[in-house]
Amino acid sequence: LIVPDNPIVPFIRGDGIGADITPVMQKVVDAAVAKAYSQKKKISWMEIYAGGRSVEVYGDNTWLPDETFDFIRKYHVAIKGPLTTPVGGGIRSLNVALRQTLDLYICLRPVRYFKGVPSPVKHPELVDTVIFRENAEDIYAGIEWEANSEGAKKLIAFLENEMNVKKIRFTENCGIGVKPMSKAGTERLIGAAFEYAIDHDRKSVTIVHKGNIMKFTEGAFKNWGYKLAEEKYGATKDENGVVSFVNPKTQKRIVVKDCIADAFLQNILLYPQDYDVVCAMNLNGDYISDALAAEVGGIGIAPGANIGADSAIFEATHGTAPTIAGTGKANPGSIILSAELMLRHMGWNEAADLIVDAMEKAISSKRVTSDFSGLMEGATTLTTSEFGDEIIKNI
Ligand code: NAD
Repeated sequence: LIVPDNPIVPFIRGDGIGADITPVMQKVVDAAVAKAYSQKKKISWMEIYAGGRSVEVYGDNTWLPDETFDFIRKYHVAIKGPLTTPVGGGIRSLNVALRQTLDLYICLRPVRYFKGVPSPVKHPELVDTVIFRENAEDIYAGIEWEANSEGAKKLIAFLENEMNVKKIRFTENCGIGVKPMSKAGTERLIGAAFEYAIDHDRKSVTIVHKGNIMKFTEGAFKNWGYKLAEEKYGATKDENGVVSFVNPKTQKRIVVKDCIADAFLQNILLYPQDYDVVCAMNLNGDYISDALAAEVGGIGIAPGANIGADSAIFEATHGTAPTIAGTGKANPGSIILSAELMLRHMGWNEAADLIVDAMEKAISSKRVTSDFSGLMEGATTLTTSEFGDEIIKNI
């Protein structure tokens, strides 16, 4: 990505606490960029619309205007707050619509521990995992039919009559869904994880799957991943059965391993140090991302990004938290750390580093929002914007 010194970055403010956290994130980013580049670089923020805010502005029940897609395509990066999901109507989820329309096939979720953050595990400092969740396929593709609908009846009849499937026991009141997983979809996701491991000097890439049960989707995901490691990266198996390839940048070996999803969820709690970069299909990746985030402080501080070949959207991973919207209780950490990822994506690593260091300082000095302060002895409770100001002070 070639980024000018004064880029336009579209932002979707978001609904509920989006109105609280997004302006705080922008202030923090502006301060970090100004400091890192002595005022020589500056982001021009441009508001684009989605969700309830879009309906306010465009009216007409317009939850996701075409312009929003056009601007993200034009400027290649965008950052967004959480969106209210419309109830009823044709849109299942605005987030899924954004990901699918822009083909943002990677959901990137780095999970890292900030010293002092309240955690339910004994050694949260051992957690340093980057999750690559496949974002476009699997049962999230939205290919499903309601029980007794024409589509469900037709598909069940087709499976039973033409495909020799005799296992659908209750054809009445049976909803049905399809779980596609392609070789191309697997390779672009796992390939991106391998590249990330190479660029960031990571020790291993783990492919998480339920291939023992779903052989031709989850199992294929695993097999195509290993095949890619072998054919494109020259991975080999040693005498102990360990598969690895040489990182061309460091000459160290990167281990490629796999783990069944249920065992993985257990292992990641018990031995987080064993997992470095992790690849998973859409649904497993969803569960794993939130479970891991809980180990290091929860969704209030978990960043995320949805990345495609041409554009990327960086986003807070939590929802609109309507009960605390406007109260100053929302933690802006998730969207601020998403902005950190965005800055790295733009190649502005110096500004990104300043944000992380400043946030670390704020947390270790126990000056935090109420979601953390209640669980930290001797902490001072700050509002959403005061927490942002604390980070800016540290910058
Ligand atoms: P939520 O994430 O909004 O809230 C879950 C819990 O976490 C609540 O107790 C909330 O107060 C708390 N919480 C969330 N973010 C926080 C923050 N930054 N600081 C402190 N506490 C925080 O999930 P929900 O209640 O299931 O969903 C509410 C709405 O958000 C729904 O309309 C849902 O569709 C939408 N949603 C949007 C996204 C998105 O846009 N990415 C994701 C999830 C849910």
